[in-house]
Amino acid sequence: MNISGTTQLLGIIGDPVGHSLSPTMHNRAIAVMGLDFAYIPFRVAPQNLADAIAGLTALGVVGFNATIPHKQAILPFLAEISAGAKAVGAVNTVWRNDAGWAGTNTDVDGFVAPLQNLDRDWSQQKALILGYGGAARAVVVGCDRLGVKEIGIIGRNPDKLQQFLSSWDAANLNTPLRGYLWGNLTEALPYANLLVNATPIGMEPEVDRSPVEAANLATLPIDAIAYDLIYNPRPTQFLALAQKQGAIAIDGTQMLVRQGAAALEIWLRRSVPVEEMQAALEEKLANKK
Ligand code: NAP
Repeated sequence: MNISGTTQLLGIIGDPVGHSLSPTMHNRAIAVMGLDFAYIPFRVAPQNLADAIAGLTALGVVGFNATIPHKQAILPFLAEISAGAKAVGAVNTVWRNDAGWAGTNTDVDGFVAPLQNLDRDWSQQKALILGYGGAARAVVVGCDRLGVKEIGIIGRNPDKLQQFLSSWDAANLNTPLRGYLWGNLTEALPYANLLVNATPIGMEPEVDRSPVEAANLATLPIDAIAYDLIYNPRPTQFLALAQKQGAIAIDGTQMLVRQGAAALEIWLRRSVPVEEMQAALEEKLANKK
């Protein structure tokens, strides 16, 4: 990277932010495209968010990503928020427009991207999401965008599950939502054409765990898709077991890369080298082992 007097800035705000893989992906894409940009990680403590945004404005930063703990907290600072981000209730990508800072949630685009390549009649497919945290919200909006027949949500706490389901009342989803407790998982699995792990079960260091046992994965419909949002390890135990049962496996690197590519396209207003971003991410993950 050649930083000069004309270099334009992109970046990510989060706390912590040192683990973020975004600088690796974005700076590879910037280098491959030969652009005079740099993507910088900024550690911003929660109490400093307002000052940080004022600083990013004053410094002329072109756009930035927001990660934990700022994805919801940033909403009041934005002049415009996309419909998708409003439905998710969180923003991960921010850019400038005439009104000030505008925000959207490219996790939704990232989640949907690898599924859009598959030849499916989504109106006949049911999705089942394990977990009801932040990432599950982007998955719900993504499944709704795909036009699936039904979205099932599996949760372990009945109150939290109910809260999650109720939180969509004003979101104008086109798809019916249905909640299940983990004890009822086996009821839902035989109809789950798309099974998404949005829990941290199976993530480093607990790599031997799977949110669903092999025997239960065997009850998935033919041609089911198992999609794990976890990107380390590759594959997760969940994906390895599901693939053994004949499911199509999609790992979390695809969502991560595609949400990054969607953000970079917004900032640069041009298409970006997705394969290079994927390669940079894979190299970084391989070096972490
Ligand atoms: P989160 O907000 O903390 O939500 C985690 C969810 O998992 C909660 O619903 C939690 O339920 C549930 N859960 C945790 N442990 C569980 C267990 N032992 N049994 C049953 N349910 C359990 O986290 P998140 O931000 O949604 O992230 C979830 C996963 O997605 C993480 O692995 C994260 O790395 C991954 N992710 C990937 C991408 C990507 O681009 N690939 C993007 C975002 C997130 P309770 O609330 O009841 O504890």
